[in-house]
Amino acid sequence: MSGTAIITGGAEGIGWACARTLAAAGYRLALLDLDGAKAAARAEVLGPGHLGLACDVTDEAGVTATLARVAALGPVTALVNNAGIGDANLPTLDQSGAHFRKLVEVNLTGAFLVAREAARAMTGGGAMVNMASIAALTGLARRNGYGAAKAGIVALTRSLACEWAGQGIRVNAVAPGYVRTELVAKLIADGLLDPGTIERRCPMGRLIEPAEIASAVAFLLSPAASAITGATLSVDAGWMAFG
Ligand code: NDP
Repeated sequence: MSGTAIITGGAEGIGWACARTLAAAGYRLALLDLDGAKAAARAEVLGPGHLGLACDVTDEAGVTATLARVAALGPVTALVNNAGIGDANLPTLDQSGAHFRKLVEVNLTGAFLVAREAARAMTGGGAMVNMASIAALTGLARRNGYGAAKAGIVALTRSLACEWAGQGIRVNAVAPGYVRTELVAKLIADGLLDPGTIERRCPMGRLIEPAEIASAVAFLLSPAASAITGATLSVDAGWMAFG
């Protein structure tokens, strides 16, 4: 692999796992995250040449400036559009419009803004992976804003794949099931997710490791996936196979 891979939300969880996998595959990494100091520290762990920068994916001017800064360092060839926030799991009647809008703003509009600027920087073609969720593909009670935003990611992935195929940019999505990250730890700690549900509902009966998402992302970004675009790959320990 060669060139620069940008990962949003790259300092934690799935994003950080993708960073380690893609660095090992030979990419130079640009890790973007809300906390720039944490992103820079993570980049240092990866070794010389990697970069960590503060970037809120909902800040349009900030996204444009940050992506231009990364592009100035060399050709961008890959994007992992991963930054996201989980839902509070409130009953729908208690959900405000602001709550719904925030979920869409971070999980969907942010992904659009980053994809648009990354495409400008992919002057020699490239590949993108957008982070969807099983919430895009099946009903999860109370996950209105989250599920709608992630379903939007699936649609965005398809439309960008159609538009940018001609310029050598492939766009795919990964739809994870429940992954062992802070996002899920917080759901469990707050009593919003019963680990027993995962054991009962999911055929493989376990959480997914972040590295298992990262290996699917690396595949979709690689030449091994050269004829795959517009696809959403479930990496869900069988959740969607169940019904
Ligand atoms: P984490 O909360 O562990 O990590 C997400 C990272 O994104 C954090 O570093 C967070 O920063 C950052 N982030 C949040 N908001 C923004 C923003 N506006 N701009 C830039 N960065 C931001 O989440 P996961 O690793 O679990 O999730 C990563 C992606 O995978 C998300 O899109 C999520 O929806 C998706 N996903 C996760 C699943 C799971 O089971 N974990 C299942 C299905 C999908 P900070 O920590 O400072 O808030």
